[in-house]
Amino acid sequence: MLDSSIKNGLTSPNSTEESKKIDVASHFILRAAYCRTEELRRWFIAQEGRLFRHRLEGITRFNSSGSVNLLREFLVRNEFSLDTVTMKEKERLRRNLLSVPGSPNPMEFNATEYCKVPFVQALELVKKRECYVEKGFAYVPLPNIVSTVCEKFRASLSKSLALASQIFGQVADEEHTRIGPLLTSMNTQYTGSGAPSAITDANGENLVTAATVDALAARNMPLCMQQLHSGLKRDHKLKHQGRLQFGLFLKGAGMSMDEHLLYFQREFTKIMTAEQFTKQYSYSIRHMHGKEGKRASYTPYNCTKIIFGNAPQAAVEHHGCPYKHYDDQNLSALLTKLNIGTVPERDAILSLKKEGHYQLACQKHFEVMHPDAKYAEGVKLDNVGNHPNDWFSASVSYHNAKTGVKPAIEEVEE
Ligand code: SF4
Repeated sequence: MLDSSIKNGLTSPNSTEESKKIDVASHFILRAAYCRTEELRRWFIAQEGRLFRHRLEGITRFNSSGSVNLLREFLVRNEFSLDTVTMKEKERLRRNLLSVPGSPNPMEFNATEYCKVPFVQALELVKKRECYVEKGFAYVPLPNIVSTVCEKFRASLSKSLALASQIFGQVADEEHTRIGPLLTSMNTQYTGSGAPSAITDANGENLVTAATVDALAARNMPLCMQQLHSGLKRDHKLKHQGRLQFGLFLKGAGMSMDEHLLYFQREFTKIMTAEQFTKQYSYSIRHMHGKEGKRASYTPYNCTKIIFGNAPQAAVEHHGCPYKHYDDQNLSALLTKLNIGTVPERDAILSLKKEGHYQLACQKHFEVMHPDAKYAEGVKLDNVGNHPNDWFSASVSYHNAKTGVKPAIEEVEE
């Protein structure tokens, strides 16, 4: 089975035996956790498909006979049968095959192995006109077979996940109390750097206050939080989900409860009285900071929780992830309105979104707005695209590094 290829040698080539085992185990654990809904399955297939392609391209990158042998070995081991084109047929098609963009040069042609696959299995190459098609078959040089193998991997994984979903209920039912909650909550768990970082300014004071939020939103917040911020400024209120997503984000970034209350009260009282605000909304803000109710510590939402959470239902709801929840047209208009990058850069962001790589689209947005961030001192990029607070911290550190201000980030008190 091709979808067990991770087990059969497509882990990272530099992995130790131990890390290969962990890699394989984590794949199958995630498979169990992400089989349960159509949306989770789609997300998992997109991520695993991308990782699979990255590793497979790693094998074929050098296009040498050694790398072609490795690829062939991998295909044989995974029972991926390819119809090899005979020398006679290759000669017959020589002119057509050589006319395809990216085909081997005439010197290499004889030594290049060609495969013949039904054209529906090579749609990516057909779309880019990177293979010759005749009588329903695509003729593909072996080193270019990656996209066909990836397509098959995705189809195979999709089938396995659909089968797994049928028995998910039995595995995760109430009797299996240890594994059930673990599997059902895995997509909302955050495994990043731990507690989000509260950011302080050069004087050691919290950077995020009622006075600074507006400027920080425009310059340093990821798209989801920018949208919540502009929704709040426009409507002078936020619906429940939006108050939670934005409020916990601000808390995680170090905004104190008093500043939080002050900021929200200032906006809300543009359309209601101070008494109404106190009665209806201040309790939930104090609750978020652990000062009411069961005094629990609430942490900010990570990207997967936002992406898989409820989608905004109406124009007055601003929560969610724009990369996931906006349609292509709306997102494109928003990126243009916010002046994010050049047209090709916006196209690159949009094409990641269209392929379902929402978090990569968000990372690309960060890259575009923070050129050369990886060379800037003190900027941690690891969780950009995984957690809005990490996007924010990285952006603040980046601008501090550019202006020579020493970033001051500390663990937030829970
Ligand atoms: Fe926000 Fe995460 Fe979506 Fe980026 S990927 S917009 S940080 S939820």
